[in-house]
Amino acid sequence: MNEKIRVRYAPSPTGYLHIGGARSALFNYLFAKKYHGDLVFRVEDTDIERNIDGGEESQYNDLKWLGIIPDESPYEPNEKYAPYRQMERLDIYRKYAEQLVAQGDAYYCYCTSEELEERKESQLQAGIKATKYDRKCLNLTKEQIERYKKEGRKPCIRIRLKENHTITFNDLVRGKVTFTCDDLGGDFVIMKSNGIPTYNFAVVVDDHLMDITHVFRGEEHLSNTPKQIAIYEMLNWKAPQFGHMTIIVNENGKKLSKRDHNILQFMSQYRELGYLKEAIFNFILLLGWTPENNQEFFTMKEAIEAFDPKRLSTSPSTFDPKALIFMNSHYIKQLSDQDYLEFIKPHMVKVMDLSHLTDEQILQIANLYKEELGYGEQIVEPLNNIMNPKEITNEEELKMVSSELAKKVYATFINELNSLSEITKDNLKQVFKNVQNLVGVKGKDLYMPIRLKLTGVSHGIELINIVNILGKDEVISRLSK
Ligand code: GLU
Repeated sequence: MNEKIRVRYAPSPTGYLHIGGARSALFNYLFAKKYHGDLVFRVEDTDIERNIDGGEESQYNDLKWLGIIPDESPYEPNEKYAPYRQMERLDIYRKYAEQLVAQGDAYYCYCTSEELEERKESQLQAGIKATKYDRKCLNLTKEQIERYKKEGRKPCIRIRLKENHTITFNDLVRGKVTFTCDDLGGDFVIMKSNGIPTYNFAVVVDDHLMDITHVFRGEEHLSNTPKQIAIYEMLNWKAPQFGHMTIIVNENGKKLSKRDHNILQFMSQYRELGYLKEAIFNFILLLGWTPENNQEFFTMKEAIEAFDPKRLSTSPSTFDPKALIFMNSHYIKQLSDQDYLEFIKPHMVKVMDLSHLTDEQILQIANLYKEELGYGEQIVEPLNNIMNPKEITNEEELKMVSSELAKKVYATFINELNSLSEITKDNLKQVFKNVQNLVGVKGKDLYMPIRLKLTGVSHGIELINIVNILGKDEVISRLSK
């Protein structure tokens, strides 16, 4: 490849960074970096009503968090290509739209949406299923135009699609794809009457002016591509190469919808739950791309080296939350003490006051869970069981904690604890042994009443560790209740 590779990730700030968006961004980034090219972050903010506060910033920050660092963006502009927000480029789109009108490849349309609706309706009643614009404004006379203007109508601009024209392109993922212009749903609008371009037009102008060479994006855009190519042809511009990635489906094979609440889909949700960026990155990487050697874990550097768009899958990619948890747990286990502490503290503080503990003490507690954590937030429930014990409601358990034997166990246990000057694991082991001998119970009969009385639940980490976390006074107070 001789030309400089330039790709882009072009989110609409109508929401936060979604798994699908992150995947598009990642594959564009890997492709660019593999061939020493640039990634452009462009903001497609023309849907002004749906833009949300902080949408742009959060998309940008979440990308960076994942290690996908744009080379150009509104925050690091290259003067040659700026500005990077579409709403700041309206004059540019107008210029090219007018050029298309002058060439006869586009035309002003004065129809109002009510009129369009009405005509569709009457055609439907006549038994004609009208899906295309009827070209009422294609050949308006000067007088008609004057009249519309006097009425105060503001025109939009529609592309004039060629008839019997075929558009073919070589998709980097799915090979040769062919559409005819008749498939494109009629003369579509490129500039709305409010002077804002539509997506299909703005994207062409920007990709061309920003020297974009390759576009990897989701399959939902496949049907947009011939519309865009039609515009490239009219403007006599070379189109970039397109690659459309397959859809992401849930475990039932259904396309992941943003309303699918069984699967979390936004980066921010994963961050908050305590997923590590290494895991998310790795997961997204394997969501629709298969390495040659079945390698399971990748660093960014390795991924760049290994990336080959030919190995993007051609069948839907299944989002398997269990695989993500597995990967996350793998990376959690690898965290250094310092990193683990930083990672886990925000979750622990939700259920316990850490202010009087040293980092070493916190780590001691946190380490009890490290091996089992799928994600950070999973420490909350078991810790909460210890810090804020549940009331026992199960009858069998109630019986167990209030039996004569249990009372003996508690009293003896308290006595033994009181005799300790210092609590260590070894000391506690000895305490349990002494209680076993003094009361004459062992195993479940010894441990379960204590566990239940202390935490209200019959499962959890090793009892010795629970006693260790709670400390002597708290244990004694709970057992004496
Ligand atoms: N703004 C579009 C989107 O968010 C970008 C599509 C494209 O990559 O062309 O879907």
